[in-house]
Amino acid sequence: MIEASEIIVQKAASSRLSQVTLKNVPFGKYFTDHMLEADYENGEWKAVEIKPYAPLQLDPATAALHYGQAIFEGIKAYKDINGSIAIFRPFENFRRFNVSAERMQMPAVPEEIFIEGMRALINLDQAWIPDQEDHSLYIRPFMIATDDVIGVKPSEKYKFLIILSPTGPYYDKPMRIYVEENYTRAAPGGIGFAKAAANYGASMLPTAKAKELGYDQVLWTDAFEHRYVQEIGTMNVFFVIGDTAYTPDLSQGTILDGITRDSVITVLGDMGLSVVEREISIDEIVAAYAEGQLKEVFGTGTAAVISSIRELRYKDYVMEFDVSKWTIAPEVKSRLAAIRNGSANDEHGWLYRIS
Ligand SMILES: *Cc1c(COP(=O)(O)O)cnc(C)c1O
Repeated sequence: MIEASEIIVQKAASSRLSQVTLKNVPFGKYFTDHMLEADYENGEWKAVEIKPYAPLQLDPATAALHYGQAIFEGIKAYKDINGSIAIFRPFENFRRFNVSAERMQMPAVPEEIFIEGMRALINLDQAWIPDQEDHSLYIRPFMIATDDVIGVKPSEKYKFLIILSPTGPYYDKPMRIYVEENYTRAAPGGIGFAKAAANYGASMLPTAKAKELGYDQVLWTDAFEHRYVQEIGTMNVFFVIGDTAYTPDLSQGTILDGITRDSVITVLGDMGLSVVEREISIDEIVAAYAEGQLKEVFGTGTAAVISSIRELRYKDYVMEFDVSKWTIAPEVKSRLAAIRNGSANDEHGWLYRIS
């Protein structure tokens, strides 16, 4: 077994930080000086190394490139108002990563590598964490199958990596969403609950078609009737109807078990709202809108945290919202920001402090 102390650290000769402006840095475009890389071979993880960020050298037959054994996570680290660094709920991502790994017949990554490796890597590249408001360090752990043999079977070799990307405020202009009725993201028995690369490749054509119609993303519906709503892009979805917040439940295995979703459910409860997790049909949403009871609709995910939806289109029926009048989504957003930046008490123990 790998111990945290066995992580080999090979430092970059010089830092590229001076070439990057951290203020308002775009999402996912720049990467820090170092990355973590670990190899799985003969049934065990070995050679855990933090080293200078660099391209990977892969055999053209690399299994992940052909048969899609590839999974990932998305996490954020923040500098609070006192300059101390914390990662937001990384143990939840660690757990979910290994749920994805199991579904894709990939090996589990031990905590010593996932959490301790992440901690050591962030510690080394901590100068890259922007300290402006709404800025953060996006953490991308991922695993790929690396057998260099063509053939549909689980790989015997894997690579686990963590890369880090400083990020500015997500440009979260309220979204226009198209309710998808032809394409399907996930069906029971499939891989919808896994953060597997294949889910995102499959979403690009339907999303591109919605974009042609002027929409930002699609709201996925169930595979059988295209009637029950699921989620949006890389976000879970919430509907405030009357005084209750509703979000689709996870029981079908067709929705990603979002950590922001879970945090938002808790914060809505802290705010005194009742939150219901259950099947939600599009007819019910349309009816609530027609009665003036559909107050707010928003997406939740690590990248944008909370994204308001200003328009929801189902067939030819357009539901529009005056986002400027909303109270709930903005309050959830500011409560989460206050926990992260240290101005509110971290009463749920969500921050994993690394300094
Ligand atoms: C990552 C992701 C989410 C959001 O999960 P968080 O843990 O909140 O970031 C929701 N849906 C899909 C499909 C995702 O990939």
